Amino acid sequence: MTRLSQVSLDPTLAPRRAARLTALPARPVEMIALGEDELARKQLEHRIAAHVPDGRLALAVTDNQYTMISVKRDKGCFRLRLHHMFLEAEPEVVRAIGRYVSHNDREASRLLGQFIDIHQRKIRRARRLSRGPVTVTIETRGEVHDLQELYDGLNRRYFDGAIDARITWGQRLAPGGRRRHRNSIKMGSYAVEDRLIRIHPSLDRPFVPRLFVEWIVYHEMLHQKHDIPVVGGRRRFHTEEFLLEEAAFEHYHRARQWERDNLDRLLNY
Ligand SMILES: [Zn+2]
Repeated sequence: MTRLSQVSLDPTLAPRRAARLTALPARPVEMIALGEDELARKQLEHRIAAHVPDGRLALAVTDNQYTMISVKRDKGCFRLRLHHMFLEAEPEVVRAIGRYVSHNDREASRLLGQFIDIHQRKIRRARRLSRGPVTVTIETRGEVHDLQELYDGLNRRYFDGAIDARITWGQRLAPGGRRRHRNSIKMGSYAVEDRLIRIHPSLDRPFVPRLFVEWIVYHEMLHQKHDIPVVGGRRRFHTEEFLLEEAAFEHYHRARQWERDNLDRLLNY
C-alpha cells in the first residue's frame, strides 16, 4: 500500500562530509564480515600505513551509508574508518588516503571526493539490482498462512513469474503482548528499493481466509509492476491502470466483501 520510508544514498552528501572528516561524530556502523574481507582489510591497512608518518594506523572497513571515510587521532594512532568501496582502490587513491589522514591534505580530499562520487553511483546501481540488504529478517511461514506459497502461486497465475520480490510477515505481537483495537492497520506494504513485501501479522489468524491474504499479497505485487507517477507534486501509487488490474483478481469482490464484514476483527490485533 505504502512505500516504506527508506534512507537513501545521497551522492552529494558523502563527498561534502568527507571534506570535514575530523569533525564527524562517531556513528554506529555495520561491519563487514570476516574471511576474505579481513584479508583485504589488512592489506589495505598495510598499504595506507606506508603513506602515514610512523605508520600507526588502525583501519576499520564499514558498510556505512553516510560516512565513507572518517579519521580520529587516538593516542598517537590514526583510527581510520573506510567504506568497503576503498578495498579495491588504485595506488593513487591509497596515497591520497594517507595524505588525507596525516595532513588533512586538500588536494587529497578532492581526489577522494571524486572517488567516492563515482563509486557511490556504482553502489546505488548494484543495490537497485540486488535483492536488498541482508539485514532484513524474512519470515514467510506463518501459523496459518504460508506467504511464499501464496506469492509463488500468484506470480505464476497473474504475472508469468515476472515479479521479483521477497515477502515476509511483519513484526508480530511480542509474547505476552496485549491485543488492542486499532483505528487502522497497514495490511501490506511494498518497499521499492528493497523489493520487499511485508504483510501484517494480523492476517495470520485462522478466521482470515486464504483468498483475503492472497488479495493483499496480489495488491503489493502490483506495486512492483506499476509505475508511480508524480501528479501535482504527489506520488500516485494507485493509478487507473493499477486499480483496473487489481480488480482482475479472481476473488476481488469476495475479498472486499470479507474485509467489510471482518474489519473489526482485523483491527483487533
Ligand atoms: Zn497499494
